[in-house]
Amino acid sequence: MGSLYFIIRWLVFMFRDKMMRFMVGRNGVDQLGRATTWLALLLMLTTMLTHSAMVYLLALLLIIYSYFRMMSRNISKRYLENQRYLQITDRIRPFLNKVEFKWQSTIRKVANWFSQRKYYRFYKCPNCHQKLRVPKGHGKIEITCKRCSTRFIKKS
Ligand SMILES: [Zn+2]
Repeated sequence: MGSLYFIIRWLVFMFRDKMMRFMVGRNGVDQLGRATTWLALLLMLTTMLTHSAMVYLLALLLIIYSYFRMMSRNISKRYLENQRYLQITDRIRPFLNKVEFKWQSTIRKVANWFSQRKYYRFYKCPNCHQKLRVPKGHGKIEITCKRCSTRFIKKS
């Protein structure tokens, strides 16, 4: 999955603090930059589902554009672009912020699940469907549901 790798690399790049030093004197990520990056990610995901070359190209162009704005040293011009973006989206800003927040927390949840999957197994309680986490590699164990105290045996 080439594009998935690209997305992950891009996310790591976006949120890493180490980049701060490199970004001195450059525009960095403003609201418009965040919007174009999210849009590019959305298009990339769409590409994975539809395999549309046009959407893929659009996503790539958007990523290049976001990258260009982030690296740009012409901060005053980028500032004006960002102001114009803020003006245009003024009315739907609360909605956009909500969407962005949802995306971020979903990505964090998925990343968290991926890192935990190495050390834990996940089961659902057969009685109340509570999700339960068990450390891996202990053979057959009896699991007690933390919500309803139902006991059941599973491989860990
Ligand atoms: Zn239960």
